[in-house]
Amino acid sequence: MSRVLSGVKPSGKMTLGNYIGSFRNFSSFQDENETYIFVADVHALTKPIDANVLRSTTYDILSFYLASGLDPEKCVIFKQSDILEVAMLNAILVNYIYMGELSRMIQYKEHVQKNNGKEIGCGIFTYPVLMAADLFMYDTEICPVGEDQRQHVELAHDIARRFNSRYKEEVLKLPRSVTPKTGKRIMNLQDPSKKMSKSDKDDEQKGIIYLQDDEKVIRKKIMSAVTDSETEVRYDPVNKKGVSNLLTIYAAMKNIDIEEAEKEFVGSNYGNFKRCVADAVMEEIGPFKERFEKFRNDEAYLNKVFEDGASKARKVAK
Ligand code: ATP
Ligand code: MG
Repeated sequence: MSRVLSGVKPSGKMTLGNYIGSFRNFSSFQDENETYIFVADVHALTKPIDANVLRSTTYDILSFYLASGLDPEKCVIFKQSDILEVAMLNAILVNYIYMGELSRMIQYKEHVQKNNGKEIGCGIFTYPVLMAADLFMYDTEICPVGEDQRQHVELAHDIARRFNSRYKEEVLKLPRSVTPKTGKRIMNLQDPSKKMSKSDKDDEQKGIIYLQDDEKVIRKKIMSAVTDSETEVRYDPVNKKGVSNLLTIYAAMKNIDIEEAEKEFVGSNYGNFKRCVADAVMEEIGPFKERFEKFRNDEAYLNKVFEDGASKARKVAK
């Protein structure tokens, strides 16, 4: 039995990338481990966000967790901001990491680049420290995440090693990141050289599949995904980024290897291939969305899940 912890930020509408790379895999841990899954609402404050949107998205994420099969009887589901002890641990841990180390984080560097170096909040800079505080707070051993978060888990190791060696005791446990075999980094359909991200701007949304999109919209986004001037459906993430991304999505939805997916489309044209990808996505996302709606319409129940989860998580945190 291991301690497992992970979370998603309510920083925007959930994407297919979040689903495949992250929370779709959470429920597989709950039977045999002590699983802690949270909505990272404090992390969502690292970029400006409307208060009502934050509240509503927090409920959305919890509903998605429940729709994906997470069971509050089998795991602890809670809201990050309900556990005040994490803020204290964060205040301690910032002293165990250097500014140079934080400034080398890819997520931070990308944010600086996107904003031309202007108005860079300290929160986005120290983001990995708060993430480390969450990991250490619950003695996390396994952290299921997408590829982009692995660097942050590694940074948590540096913090733990420095802390433990200073006090000559193994106080902080080193968590191991676990990424899915297929789909650890789903790319934007319009610009397959960059990650599909929920907090991307309006003009980039054509390339993002939101789980709350209507079927028609999802199909349209997949059918107009950028590919290349060739005709062959082949996995080659260097030269055929768009096609490779669609193959990855297809394989993930069908729970098969990429090679197997590739074989299915030998001789197929791009139009037919995309239609099959859209079908595969809808086959899984369709029923999932119905379960989501059921939970989302019952805020009283969602509040209760959060309350129960907080009281369990708080005990460990204390
Ligand atoms: P933001 O743009 O606000 O950073 P995000 O879409 O990157 O949002 P996060 O809340 O930062 O989502 O990440 C939640 C989890 O989803 C993490 O484990 C992250 O690695 C994973 N994830 C995010 N985007 C993708 C993606 N495109 N492919 C696979 N996994 C992803
Ligand atoms: Mg992110």
